[in-house]
Amino acid sequence: MEKIKMTTPLVEMDGDEMTRVIWQWIKDILILPYVDLKTEYYDLGLEYRNATKDQVTIDSANATKKYGVAVKCATITPNAARVTEYNLDEMWKSPNGTIRAILDGTVFRTPIIVKGITPYIPTWTKPITIARHAYGDVYKNTELQVPANTTAYLVSVDENGNETRELIHKFGDSAGIVQGVHNVDASIRSFARSCFNFALDMKQDLWFASKDTISKKYDHRFKDIWAEIYETEYKEKFEAAGIEYFYTLIDDAVARVIRSEGGYIWACKNYDGDVMSDMVATAYGSLAMMTSVLVSPDGNYEYEAAHGTVQRHYYKHLKGEETSTNSVATIFAWTGALRKRGELDGNADLMAFADRLEAATIKTIEDGVMTGDLYLLSKLENKKKVNTEDFLKAIAERL
Ligand code: NAP
Ligand code: MG
Repeated sequence: MEKIKMTTPLVEMDGDEMTRVIWQWIKDILILPYVDLKTEYYDLGLEYRNATKDQVTIDSANATKKYGVAVKCATITPNAARVTEYNLDEMWKSPNGTIRAILDGTVFRTPIIVKGITPYIPTWTKPITIARHAYGDVYKNTELQVPANTTAYLVSVDENGNETRELIHKFGDSAGIVQGVHNVDASIRSFARSCFNFALDMKQDLWFASKDTISKKYDHRFKDIWAEIYETEYKEKFEAAGIEYFYTLIDDAVARVIRSEGGYIWACKNYDGDVMSDMVATAYGSLAMMTSVLVSPDGNYEYEAAHGTVQRHYYKHLKGEETSTNSVATIFAWTGALRKRGELDGNADLMAFADRLEAATIKTIEDGVMTGDLYLLSKLENKKKVNTEDFLKAIAERL
């Protein structure tokens, strides 16, 4: 066949360990034979991040702002052990954190559903996408442990030195704890816009919840900002697309999610998103079947797998042992990026290719050919465990 042409490049962010190995194989086996792939390549592997003093991460994020679409491989976030292992100059920050700060984005995580792997909630026949607000609240808190007979106040001072003071609690004969948290309107607005845009993209309903009945200023501010942005910027677009924006209390949302069949986007405040994304991911089966996309409020997209670099498998691979690492989420990062590139460039062939590669991947697993992690979960009768590379070849046959 004649290879599918691309007009605009994708930003390609390479990464570390087992996912770096898989990255190259996906390109060689599943993409390059069919697509005249155009990418602007950034090596976010830890060695090169260290060599460039992490400038490569910043450059890759700025390139994403320029071109609008990126695909990212999992990367190591260095800790003390990695500083020794890679002889690093510094304990470089998480690349995902750096990229998210530059793009001001929200992360959306969606499970990939296949026959044979039943979610722990069997009524969840469609994916639930979770969006987590990644700023403020308890993650940027100030807290104190206070002795008995202490009085705690919440105090704010404006630019003219005017003080506002509210009593938090007069501690009696028991010591206790106090905590101060904050958020900023601008961040809540960016979060809301990213979510409204993504819902329009996916043509799915959008849910948002907080505890505004109890937190009449803090959580209520979230509710009000979302309502105002919806009314003034998105209501007509949602109605035209036939989708709904639904606000409710967080405990009501949790009850409804459990009873639902899935198929919507659930936007969560920072803590709710932290907790609920782990619950939802576990309920759908495997982290290796979870895709993730960072969407900025002005419409830039960075696609990746939700899992890490699968270090344990990489060390086996280095020793020449066979691995059975699941490449599905990384494949879907590529298809997500190629489809979005196609959509932005009016390239129907590229969009169709992304659809076919996803369909071939799902068909492979539903035919019973799968990696070890899914083999343990699948209820298919004639299932077969294959190694990392043979799984990709089985997809290529179907593609
Ligand atoms: P991980 O790479 O997600 O792997 C944890 C375990 O989950 C693996 O050992 C494996 O279990 C299983 N697993 C995850 N992905 C799998 C896949 N595709 N196929 C099969 N099994 C899979 O998390 P980690 O080991 O905690 O972190 C390793 C490195 O990744 C760290 O340096 C961390 O900083 C980085 N990380 C990066 C990102 C990112 O770039 N977005 C996210 C998370 C972590 P078994 O060993 O039992 O088979
Ligand atoms: Mg969590």
